[in-house]
Amino acid sequence: MTQASIDWHESAERFHPRQQAVIGGELVDAVDGATFSATSPRDGTVLAEVAACRTADVDRAVASARRAFDAGHWSRSAPAERRRSMLRFARLVEEHADELALTVSLEMGKPISDARDIEIPALVKTLTWYAEAADKLLDELPRTGADALAMITREPVGVVAAIVPWNFPLTMAGWKLGPALAVGNSVVLKPAEQSPLSALRLGELALEAGLPEGVLNVVPGLGHEAGQALGRHDDVDVVAFTGSGEVGRELLRYAADSNLKRVYLELGGKTPNIVFGDAPDLAEAAATAAWGITFNQGEMCTAASRLLVQRDVHDDFVSQVLDAITSRRLGDPLDTATQIGPVVDETQLRRVLDYVAIGLDEGADLRLGGGRTLPDTGGSYVEPTVFTGVRPDMRIAREEIFGPVLSVLPFDDLPDAIRIANDTVYGLAASVWTRDLTTAHTAARALRAGTVWVNCFEEGDLSVPFGGMKQSGTGRDKSLHAIDKYVDLKTTWIAL
Ligand code: NAP
Ligand code: MG
Repeated sequence: MTQASIDWHESAERFHPRQQAVIGGELVDAVDGATFSATSPRDGTVLAEVAACRTADVDRAVASARRAFDAGHWSRSAPAERRRSMLRFARLVEEHADELALTVSLEMGKPISDARDIEIPALVKTLTWYAEAADKLLDELPRTGADALAMITREPVGVVAAIVPWNFPLTMAGWKLGPALAVGNSVVLKPAEQSPLSALRLGELALEAGLPEGVLNVVPGLGHEAGQALGRHDDVDVVAFTGSGEVGRELLRYAADSNLKRVYLELGGKTPNIVFGDAPDLAEAAATAAWGITFNQGEMCTAASRLLVQRDVHDDFVSQVLDAITSRRLGDPLDTATQIGPVVDETQLRRVLDYVAIGLDEGADLRLGGGRTLPDTGGSYVEPTVFTGVRPDMRIAREEIFGPVLSVLPFDDLPDAIRIANDTVYGLAASVWTRDLTTAHTAARALRAGTVWVNCFEEGDLSVPFGGMKQSGTGRDKSLHAIDKYVDLKTTWIAL
C-alpha cells in the first residue's frame, strides 16, 4: 500500500500496541506487575498500560543478556552469521514500517509523514549498514621484531545498556543497537517513558528475525527506576546514552558508585545557524532555518535554535524566516500534510512556555507564536515561536529549550559570529551559510562542534560520525567509529 492510500486515523482506531517487556526471548510483565500509562500527545488519550520495569526486571534482563553473551550463539558466531540475522531484522522492520511509523506518531507526536519517510527508513538503513559492516572489520598485526608475534584484536565488551530518548525513539535505538550487535554484544534497551511502544515492537521483531534469546532485551520503565538500575548494575559493561546532560551526569555518578562501567553520552545542543550576507541562496537559507527549528517540533538535539544573521541582511532575512515558519502546517500528526505535531507531553509543553516567559522577561522581542494552540484537541500543541533582539547572555540564547522556539541574534563579521556561536556549554553542531571559501573554512575550523555544515543543515549519512564536543557529549554514534564504544582492545603477545 502506498502511504497516501493508508487511512492513518482508521489504523489508529485498530491500534493494539505491545505492553510487555522483552526479556530472555519472552514477552513478560514486570515482576511486581507494575505498569505505567503510555499516553498520546496528539489528544491526551491513554494508548496502553505498559510493564514498568524496576530493579528486579532489570536484573532479569541483564542476567539473560549475560547468559546469551556467555553462551556464544551470538557473541562468538561467525560475523557473516550476524550479518545475515541483522539483515533479516532490518527487513522485518521495513516490512512493518507502517505499523512502526503509526506507533511512533501516536506515542510521541511526530507527524506521520516524517515517521514513515524519515524515522523508520533511518532505522532500516542503520541496521543494514552495521549488518553489512559486521563481516568486513579487520584486526591488526603490528610490526614487532622477529622474535614475537603481536595481535591487536577487538572483542565485544559483553552487556550494553542502551538508554534512549523519545524524540527519535527508533533512530536513536538503532544508532546504539547497530554497532553493538554487529560486533557480538548483548543489549538491554531502555526506551524513554514517553516512547516505550515502538521499542517493544522492535524487540519482538528482533526475536522474529532470529536473534538468539537474551541478545536484545527491552525494559520499558521510568528513568529513575529502570534507567537507574541499569546505570548502577555491576554486570553492565557499557552504557550508551542519548538524552539530557542532567541524566548524563547521573549515569557518570552511577558508574563511579558501581563497577566503573564505560559511559558514552550523546547530549543536548544549541546549534548556531550562521547566515552571512553573501550566502549563495538566502531564500534557501531562510527556508532551511524555518525547517531547522520546527522539524520534529524543535525536539531535536541539533535543532537550529540560534539563528545568527549578519546585520546588513538581518531584517529582510528574518521576515523571510517568519514567512517560511508561518507557512509550515501544524496539526494532527496523523494527517499526512501535517509538518508540525504536538510536543511530546504536557511537561514539555510547560517547559517551552516557561522559556517563552523567560525570553519576554529578558527583554527579547517576541515576533511569532509564544502560546499553546489547538486546546480543544486535548493534545500538547505549541505555536512555533520566534524571538529577535536576543543577546548572547540571555537564557534563551544559552539553554536548550527542546521545542519550536527560535532565538535570532545579529552579528557584524566572522570573528563576532564565531565568538557568539562558541559561547555556550554545548558543541553538537553548527551551520554556516556563505559563498566565500575562506569564511567557510575559517568558520568550520573555529567552531567547537562535532559537526559543521556549510550551505546546508542536518545533512550526512551513516559513513560519518555524529556526536558532540564540550557538554554535548562523549563518544560518537554512526560510522565505523561508533564500533569503538562496543569493543575492548586486546593485545596478545606471542614469543616466537
Ligand atoms: P532524558 O530525560 O535525559 O531521558 C533520556 C533517557 O534517560 C530516557 O530513557 C529516560 O527515561 C532515562 N533516564 C531518566 N532519568 C534517568 C536516570 N536517573 N537514570 C537512568 N536513566 C534515566 O532526555 P529526554 O527528555 O528523553 O530527551 C531529550 C534530550 O535528549 C535533549 O537534551 C536532547 O538534546 C537529547 N538528545 C541528544 C541527541 C544526541 O545525539 N546528542 C539525540 C537526541 C536527543 P524516562 O523517559 O523514563 O525519564
Ligand atoms: Mg525524560
